[in-house]
Amino acid sequence: MTAFQGKLPPIWLKPSVYQALGKHLASALPHEACGVLLGAAAAGGMLIDNYVPMRNVAPDPLHTFVPHPADWISALYLSPPPVGLFHSHPRTLPIPSIADYDGLSGLDEHFAVYLIGTPGIEPEHPIHLNGYHIQRTRTGDGPRSISLIESKLQVLLK
Ligand SMILES: [Zn+2]
Repeated sequence: MTAFQGKLPPIWLKPSVYQALGKHLASALPHEACGVLLGAAAAGGMLIDNYVPMRNVAPDPLHTFVPHPADWISALYLSPPPVGLFHSHPRTLPIPSIADYDGLSGLDEHFAVYLIGTPGIEPEHPIHLNGYHIQRTRTGDGPRSISLIESKLQVLLK
């Protein structure tokens, strides 16, 4: 878990989501895993209460992720729509890559949260996660700029 940075609201994860992310990360190794996060704004933050894994069909799945088109379409048609995107970095730190930043512009406005996971060290913590808020800003009529703001990430107690 990362230190609280800035004044953005925290991202809360249900324990079942934390476990599901860890399982998907592990089962996809050595490839990157990806999926969408379901949830809602709650309790002064964003609560993630479900995870829907997607197949990674990237030509180079060791280093990138591209959701299977059918998985991606069905994820976008979920109601309510996903609030976030998850993917894993099997061998590198869970911080956004240049390709990750490039991919942000393809995300609809309902994507507010971005999680990146890397394998955990201890068995009781199967995944180390970094959480980011997707921040979209537009000045005047200029192009929209999108950035990721690192946020406090908390797994709810059972
Ligand atoms: Zn990445």
